Amino acid sequence: MEYQSTRDKKLRAGSAEAVLRGLAPDGGLYVARPPVDFDVHSVLRLDTLGMAEKILSALLPDFRDMGALVRRAYAGKFETEELTPLVPVGGRYVLELFRGPTSAFKDVALSMLPQLITAAREREGVTDEILILTATSGDTGKAALAGFCDVPGTKIIVFYPENGVSEVQKKQMISQAGANVRVCAVRGNFDDTQTGVKEIFAAGVKENCGVRLSSANSINIGRLAPQVVYYYKAYADLLKAGRVACGDKVDFVVPTGNFGDILAGYLAKRMGLPVGKLVCASNRNDVLTDFLRTGTYDRRRPFYKTISPSMDILVSSNLERLLWLLTENEDEVAGYMRSLTENGCYTVSDSLLSKLHAEFAYGCCDDAQTMETIGKVWKTEHYLMDTHTAVAWRVAEGYQTDAPVVVLSTASPYKFPTAVLSAIGGDTSGTEFDVMFRLNELTGVPVSPNLARLQKLPILHRDVIDREEMQAYVQRRMRQWDE
Ligand SMILES: *Cc1c(COP(=O)(O)O)cnc(C)c1O
Repeated sequence: MEYQSTRDKKLRAGSAEAVLRGLAPDGGLYVARPPVDFDVHSVLRLDTLGMAEKILSALLPDFRDMGALVRRAYAGKFETEELTPLVPVGGRYVLELFRGPTSAFKDVALSMLPQLITAAREREGVTDEILILTATSGDTGKAALAGFCDVPGTKIIVFYPENGVSEVQKKQMISQAGANVRVCAVRGNFDDTQTGVKEIFAAGVKENCGVRLSSANSINIGRLAPQVVYYYKAYADLLKAGRVACGDKVDFVVPTGNFGDILAGYLAKRMGLPVGKLVCASNRNDVLTDFLRTGTYDRRRPFYKTISPSMDILVSSNLERLLWLLTENEDEVAGYMRSLTENGCYTVSDSLLSKLHAEFAYGCCDDAQTMETIGKVWKTEHYLMDTHTAVAWRVAEGYQTDAPVVVLSTASPYKFPTAVLSAIGGDTSGTEFDVMFRLNELTGVPVSPNLARLQKLPILHRDVIDREEMQAYVQRRMRQWDE
């Protein structure tokens, strides 16, 4: 299976090269037609790590001994051996993706990516050290730090906006141990921080300096592939529970931002899993809802800060991969992307829109509805969900189907304790840690161990710089990592 750019058939790469490069040289994303001879039925009988080995081997065939990579990534690192438990809630199912080392769904992918990058580095004979640079608005930074911590041949620098992340998210990052990790606050907002990182990538590093820059961003195929696994795992759990017979369709509702999570569901389906509809759930930033309804993607709209911040996105990068997978026409995709850059919008063909409607449903809700949903589900089902999951739950309620419905849950409620406690009518005074513990007292829902011990951890990273200093900071670190 060979990968190519979504925008140019001639830009090809094996799966290991695609993982190392991240983005194709023309700015397109690496894609490939998913394998069609995948043995779904035997995979559904395996445990989670067994499924991961088979699915990742099928999608990334360059990697030998995928079983060892999978074990190194996951074994003993999640709260449960099954990694992503499926919990029945009020006639639907919640797929808990937040049981990893940092209580964010990004752990599923970012535990695996470092293993893939180091294996790809060896396979491609790259002797340079890989330096991961990441700008984070919160969750990605910590999950990447935890994933790359002490992985040989790699270093990672995470930049975060000094006042743009929550207290818990900040403490998660600045307490990160590991000889190969550095965390640095930037005076500015997330956009400033991200622009700074993009400029460093654009400037590049000198050849033969022994370092190669890479990103832990969700456009890397090595981040997408591990997410296919939990769709299989959820289906296998429904089979075991006797809730479906083999071949019955299951619908999945996905809280969506960059379109990585839901696209993994589409890949699972193309590989043969009996998925019915994939329901794309958005918050008030409803660019995807409008796109899926009308076929016009229009980013020229206000950006809203919501209580589900990981879904506050106007340009949903992984959508480009879906457009290619549905058309296999790189000229068409390149045209849409050019129009997005030049005009801020594009409209897909009628035939592509009908293909989209055959596979996807959509819906959105605002902050007030999100809060109301958290309160209602707590009251009626005694299930505590975070703000992102609540968006998906709300959209699921408005969606008609006869199939079993799985709602993907992407964060622990304790990562957004103020919104969640306020939604169930609690007192949200004090620090975010006060609120976290009060939420626990009020509900009795256990705080995951990594968050419970967080407040007491020592601070290990104190660097704060201006946005203009970011490039010099990286160069200084490359010369002298420990100072
Ligand atoms: C990243 C994230 C999402 C969005 O996932 P995409 O793959 O970008 O669509 C949703 N919820 C949470 C909590 C996240 O961290």
